[in-house]
Amino acid sequence: MSSNKKFKILGSGSSAFRELFEILKNKDKSSHYKKKKKKAVKLDLVDFTNFNPNRDFSKWETKILDNMKDKEFQIEFKHRKFPLEVNSKNYVYIPDMMIFGFRINDRKIIVEAHENLLEEDIIKYRKFIKEYKNIYHLIMIVEGSQLRKWNENSKKSPLFNDIWVKDDIKDLINYLNEEKLNFEKKFHNFPQEAFCARKGCGEEAKGYDEIERLFGYRKMKDKKIIVQSYCRYCRTIKHNI
Ligand SMILES: [Zn+2]
Repeated sequence: MSSNKKFKILGSGSSAFRELFEILKNKDKSSHYKKKKKKAVKLDLVDFTNFNPNRDFSKWETKILDNMKDKEFQIEFKHRKFPLEVNSKNYVYIPDMMIFGFRINDRKIIVEAHENLLEEDIIKYRKFIKEYKNIYHLIMIVEGSQLRKWNENSKKSPLFNDIWVKDDIKDLINYLNEEKLNFEKKFHNFPQEAFCARKGCGEEAKGYDEIERLFGYRKMKDKKIIVQSYCRYCRTIKHNI
């Protein structure tokens, strides 16, 4: 185990959760209640068998995701990790693609291309939707022959917010463009630049997402939308100055 420094990918099936990995194989259940204490994770306890954070996309995924590249979307691949706990095991989910600059139903957008739905995928996507449904809108792109399987498994508890067959990718792009326009219409009168008014802070932000994250917006009595004059950080500490 200690010599297992190279990440191995087992199986050639395209599972988006190939990079889901079990951090601690035999995680102590009681540690669930001590979350605040950060536990150092010993590397030799980590099972990297199915984890390759830098793995390339499969041909099937590349073909699909390439369609999105030249569009007017701000795209990041493998942008962030989501920790998920399933049956007291820890996993990390790294979405294929995240789209920035607009939202769907006020949720950030994830696009996942998934070739073969496996049992473990069902468990994990279900968990992801349960935990992150208020923040993320998960769009799944699948094989036509798999669509029924996805829908059936989604009945009890959803695995996605939106599902598209790979042959309809043009329709998906049109749909995203429409959502982008709707978003821009809704927010076109929101300020797009922010600069913290607290002397010496220097925090700045551009665009809705960044401003929302670092500053936040505020509605005035006359319904005009303005940016908070102090950044979020300075607002949390201003009483201590
Ligand atoms: Zn500030």
